[in-house]
Amino acid sequence: MKVTSDVIVIGGGIIGCATGYYLTKKGLAVNLLEKNYLTAGSTGRCIGGIRQQFSTELSIKVAMESMKKFAAMKDELGRDVEFHRGGYLFLAHSEDKKESYTKLIEIQQAMGLDVSYIDVSEIEKIVPGIDTTDLLGGAYCPSDAQANPFLIVDAYARVIKERGNVYTYKEVTAVDCQKGKVNSVRTRDGDTFYAPVVVNAAGPYAREIGQMVNLDIPIYPERHEAMITEQMERFFDMMIVDYRPDGCYFNQKWGKGSIIGCYTPIPNVPGHDLGTSFEFGKEMGRRMGRIIPKLRNTKIIRQWSGSYEMTQDGNPILDSSDVDGFWVVGGMCGHGFMLGPEIGWIAATYISEGKPPYDIAEFKLHRDFSSIEVMK
Ligand SMILES: Cc1cc2nc3c(=O)[nH]c(=O)nc-3n(C[C@H](O)[C@H](O)[C@H](O)COP(=O)(O)OP(=O)(O)OC[C@H]3O[C@@H](n4cnc5c(N)ncnc54)[C@H](O)[C@@H]3O)c2cc1C
Repeated sequence: MKVTSDVIVIGGGIIGCATGYYLTKKGLAVNLLEKNYLTAGSTGRCIGGIRQQFSTELSIKVAMESMKKFAAMKDELGRDVEFHRGGYLFLAHSEDKKESYTKLIEIQQAMGLDVSYIDVSEIEKIVPGIDTTDLLGGAYCPSDAQANPFLIVDAYARVIKERGNVYTYKEVTAVDCQKGKVNSVRTRDGDTFYAPVVVNAAGPYAREIGQMVNLDIPIYPERHEAMITEQMERFFDMMIVDYRPDGCYFNQKWGKGSIIGCYTPIPNVPGHDLGTSFEFGKEMGRRMGRIIPKLRNTKIIRQWSGSYEMTQDGNPILDSSDVDGFWVVGGMCGHGFMLGPEIGWIAATYISEGKPPYDIAEFKLHRDFSSIEVMK
């Protein structure tokens, strides 16, 4: 089979589908190629949190714009994507954390975000039964939210099919160039897709796709485990984030009340392996129970793992490359779901109009990766 389109997108996660969606809305025909099923990568393994509390003006802006897009999805996509504003609460258990959050809140408030530092008595009101040992307060943004990644990816994919197509179980094995310009991609089953633009949205596999055009893309996978509990009476609404080295983050799903959560392992677990560990379930139970003691005996019913697609500075890469027509949209560092709609829109605008809608120099492929996003 030989197929042509305006753009080829590699990867059927939130980033590939959002980019394809906005390119389609701009009138371009997109062929999206996914080696597995849609959401099979990190997107289907995430816990659905959407926040706007970041540390740089650009990441806060991208997150706030993304939030607007999530909020508009019901009307725009004609589908309830289970968007629910329950907030995000970052707990401060040390003076250092308190100071860091209050400084960041100044930047976030200046950008118009409804975030504030709340004291322990206010936290007790919104998280009944929280253990206040060592707790000094927290950064709370009530307009932060959660939504369902499966419903959103599916809705985006339906729109892509209006002008182009979405191919699942189509693994890209080669990207071919002519005179330094991208020309086509080949798939494992022998098909060739032609387009003058190829978007690498392969998430944790962005580096491998880059190697197909001799590009070294500094995105590397790290394994994160996650779990979901039995359902229980709903008693808190927000994502609770405990950034202590042995902390965790979790929220209660707004519908039926299961708790979904994960933690960042120390040391990190690099590589593509998506195994799970007995230790995670045990530790997650202990960590959640330390924050809310009544969760100590809650039953975990499933656990799984997925990849964070990391860059060294915690910021995404959204850029064209040294190979004409080859774009990189990835390295979302564990924030790809929440940033996805805006990142997809920026990418589509940049690709179709030749310049980004606003300055995204911090997301360049070739940049100094030494400054760190502290809310990563
Ligand atoms: C446990 C966990 C919890 C998380 N929680 C959150 C959260 O609450 N909020 C949030 O914003 N983010 C969260 N994340 C991060 C988020 O899931 C990712 O940042 C986001 O899904 C990345 O999207 P993506 O489209 O770039 O990558 P992916 O979803 O991985 O999509 C890339 C796709 O490319 C495909 N692909 C790879 N190679 C090829 C090839 N050769 N040919 C064709 N297709 C290929 C893959 O199969 C995959 O489907 C979490 C991640 C994990 C693991």
